[in-house]
Amino acid sequence: YDDRDGLIWMDGEMVNWRDAKVHILSHAMHYASSVFEGERAYKGKIFKSRAHSERLVASAEALDMPMPYTVDQIEAAKEETLKASGLQDAYVRALVWRGSGDDMGVASAKNPVRMAIAVWGWGAYYGDAKMQGAKLDIAEWKRPSPETIPVHAKAAGLYMICTISKHKAEAKGCSDALFMDYRGYVAEATGANIFFVKDGEVHTPTPDCFLNGITRQTVIGMLKDRGITVHERHIMPEELDGFEQCWLTGTAAEVTPVGQIGPHSFEVGELTRDIAKAYEALVRS
Ligand code: PMP
Repeated sequence: YDDRDGLIWMDGEMVNWRDAKVHILSHAMHYASSVFEGERAYKGKIFKSRAHSERLVASAEALDMPMPYTVDQIEAAKEETLKASGLQDAYVRALVWRGSGDDMGVASAKNPVRMAIAVWGWGAYYGDAKMQGAKLDIAEWKRPSPETIPVHAKAAGLYMICTISKHKAEAKGCSDALFMDYRGYVAEATGANIFFVKDGEVHTPTPDCFLNGITRQTVIGMLKDRGITVHERHIMPEELDGFEQCWLTGTAAEVTPVGQIGPHSFEVGELTRDIAKAYEALVRS
């Protein structure tokens, strides 16, 4: 991704794509002091842009990184970067990290907090087979307890086990991996939340130790508007067999049907197709 034309917003300035570099002794490189956002623009407008900017600020605060920009300034910077890209449908990546400075230790409060925004085209997250039902592996790692790490921050450090688990899943021919949490409950995929359907009602894990996704919240609202009952609750892995349909939600994933999780199969049913279509219509409206 580093060798291409384009412009990246970096610390308040537009820089050439190839020149958007950081020093190897940046604090973030060594200690994961980095938070980010993944957003999508449709028809030239970022969907739920402000909610993403607010989450970025909250994530930075959770990692004790004083944000150098306000939500309004972040909004303007994302807009400017999207415009400069010339793209209508695009993925927007905002990144905040602690840079290099006088300190090289764990405590580096005086090192500058920096920010960058890049925009590029990114199609279906799970490839062209999106509507056929993704196949998920069951991850060996568990989503950690809220007492061990700031689980509600969209922080780079929380993705270490996502990368390991997704690599393992892909090596087995799966598209992604499903995490259980530290208590053994069903949690989320490596970059998306999960929903299940049974007897016309929807069940989704309580987001008490992982990201309460913006797409997740949008989809819950859509379901409730349709008069569909949504149970946000703790779900045991033993229950997977009893669910009829399953889908993932996320900015990148949008609404992606799931066909299989380990030995459990799901149909890409009417509600799944309906919600996927309705989400697509909503983000483009
Ligand atoms: N969980 C994880 C681990 C994620 O990376 C994402 C994507 N940001 C989500 C859930 C879904 O969040 P959102 O709908 O806000 O994109």
